[in-house]
Amino acid sequence: MSFDHIHPQSKGGNTSFENVCLACRSCNEYKSDLTEAQDLLTGEIVPLFNPRTQQWSEHFAWSLDATRVEGQTPVGRATIAALRMNNSVIVAARSRWVISGWHPPTIE
Ligand SMILES: [Zn+2]
Repeated sequence: MSFDHIHPQSKGGNTSFENVCLACRSCNEYKSDLTEAQDLLTGEIVPLFNPRTQQWSEHFAWSLDATRVEGQTPVGRATIAALRMNNSVIVAARSRWVISGWHPPTIE
């Protein structure tokens, strides 16, 4: 895991509890300095999910086989697309984690 600045340092974000969260390296690198993205369903530009102020389960759900994250809102869908949260590498890893009983997480 790496530390992500929710509001990027390059755009004036500070290093504080409210502005930093843990992110996997893939999500962190795809997020880069983005703060918003397009919901491909509605075309709307929306803020990315903020894990400090928003509830994961309000914006995301696991697919039935738990290998894919499904967006429940424009914020969820835009974040999944921007961070490529269902890229082939992570979907393959999740399918192995499901078999091992490590996934999906029970704490949200
Ligand atoms: Zn990730």
